[in-house]
Amino acid sequence: MERIAVIGAGTMGSGIAHVCALAGLRATLVDADPAALKRGTATIARNLDRQAGKGRITAADRDRALALIEPGDSLAAAASADLVIEAVPEVAELKGRIFAELDGVAPPHAILASNTSSISITAIAARTGRPEKVIGMHFMNPVPVMRLVEVIRGLGTDDATTRAVMELSRRLGKTPVEVRDFPGFVSNRVLMPMINEAIFALMEGVAEAESIDTVMTLGMNHPMGPLALADLIGLDTCLNILEVLHRELGDDRYRPCPLLRQYVAAGWLGRKTGRGFHSYPPRAR
Ligand code: NAD
Repeated sequence: MERIAVIGAGTMGSGIAHVCALAGLRATLVDADPAALKRGTATIARNLDRQAGKGRITAADRDRALALIEPGDSLAAAASADLVIEAVPEVAELKGRIFAELDGVAPPHAILASNTSSISITAIAARTGRPEKVIGMHFMNPVPVMRLVEVIRGLGTDDATTRAVMELSRRLGKTPVEVRDFPGFVSNRVLMPMINEAIFALMEGVAEAESIDTVMTLGMNHPMGPLALADLIGLDTCLNILEVLHRELGDDRYRPCPLLRQYVAAGWLGRKTGRGFHSYPPRAR
C-alpha cells in the first residue's frame, strides 16, 4: 500500500495526511473548499516544523514528508489510490454520497476507510459495490500525537481488508485495535456515558465543575477531567454522539443530560467558543 488519498483537509484529515507522509506514503489531500485545503496544508507544515524543532524528526524527514503531500480538489484524486481515508464532517448522508462516488472512481483493489466517530460502517459500506473493502479507521485527535487507531469492521468487511489496515496503522506508528461495528464502537461507548454522568453530577449540584474534574484526574489518574475533555471535544459533538448511542442502542442510560442540551443551545460549545464547563481565554483555545 503506497498511495493514500485523504478526503477532507480539516482537523483530522490534515493530521492523517501528516502521519501517512511521515511514514513514507504518498498522500493526496483533497478538500471541496480551497481555503480549507490551504489551511490544512499550512497546518501540516507548521506541525512538521514543530516536530523538527523538538528533535522528534529530522529536517530531512520533514522535507521528505512535505514532498509526499499533494493537494487535490476533487474525488478524482482517488483514481490512483490504494487506500482512501475519508474525514469529512460527521453527516451520514454526506459520507454516504462520498463513498458512492469513491466507489466509482477508486481502482477495484482500493480499500475505502472512514474516520467516522459514530456513523455505522455497515451503512456506509452499503452505498458501495465493495462492502468487503470498506472499513473504519478511527484516529484520535491530535492525530500526530495520539497512538490509537480504532479499526472498525463492518458486517461485510473481509479479513484481508482488516489485516491490511491493521498493518498500515502499525506502519504509521500507531497501535490499532480491532472492534466490531456497533454504535459508538468502543471509544465513545465507554467515554460518552462517563462524560454524561459528570454533567449530571454537575447539574444535580453534587460538586463544582473544577471539583468533578479534580476527582477524576487525581483520584482516577485520568490525564484530564471529563468536563475539561468534553470542552476539548466540543459539547455539540458530545451531544451528537450521545444522541446516536441513545437512538441506536435504544437504551435510556445513554440519554443526553439536559444541562448538556442547554449549553449547546446557548452556543457554549467548549474550547472552540471560549466557554463550556470551563472558560478559555483566547490564548488557551
Ligand atoms: P473538520 O470540519 O475539521 O474537517 C472536515 C473537512 O471536510 C473540511 O475542511 C471541509 O471543507 C471538508 N469537506 C466537506 N465536504 C467535503 C466534500 N464533499 N469533499 C471534500 N471535502 C469536504 O472535521 P474533523 O474534525 O476533521 O472531522 C472529520 C471526521 O473525523 C468526522 O467524521 C469526525 O466525526 C471524525 N473525528 C473527529 C475527531 C475530532 O476530534 N475532531 C476525532 C475523531 C474522529
